[in-house]
Amino acid sequence: MSTRRELLRFGMGAGALGAAGLAGLPVKAFAATLEPRRVALHNLHTGEALDAVYWENGAYVPDAVAALNKVLRDYRTGDVHFMEPGLYDILDAVSAKVGNRAPFQIISGYRSPKTNAMLHAKSDGVAEHSLHMDGKAMDIRLEGVALANVHKAALSLGRGGVGFYPTSNFVHVDVGRVRTWTGV
Ligand SMILES: [Zn+2]
Repeated sequence: MSTRRELLRFGMGAGALGAAGLAGLPVKAFAATLEPRRVALHNLHTGEALDAVYWENGAYVPDAVAALNKVLRDYRTGDVHFMEPGLYDILDAVSAKVGNRAPFQIISGYRSPKTNAMLHAKSDGVAEHSLHMDGKAMDIRLEGVALANVHKAALSLGRGGVGFYPTSNFVHVDVGRVRTWTGV
């Protein structure tokens, strides 16, 4: 897919590839889609850790996704919420970019309306309707990798929102529209 994007960026049509190039593309793309995807999480509030293959043979693995969602629950209220699996794809891609498969440390995953309201009242940095409430955002850091590099890797994906919080020491990633900001 990236090969095609490169071609489009340079204004070349598929015809410019020639027969050999075209024949090679589908096989490569097919192999890439079958590669299992895994993610490792370590929730700093609960101490829970999980390393799971959450996508294989072309589909998300329901049991693995459910177990990951549980690790990302609102630790204050115990509420478990469906997390958008695209978040796990972002983490998988960030791991690949920085070349480190250490667990992602979770500062914040799902936030119940009650928790979000409490945090919003305490901090200007917390939106009244945060994407954390929709199971569409995570605040993360990666042990052994400079926060700036995690941030750079997340930005390079061009997927969803990326917030950089150098003082609090985490990067916010979400599956909302593409945007970027710096917090504290
Ligand atoms: Zn966040």
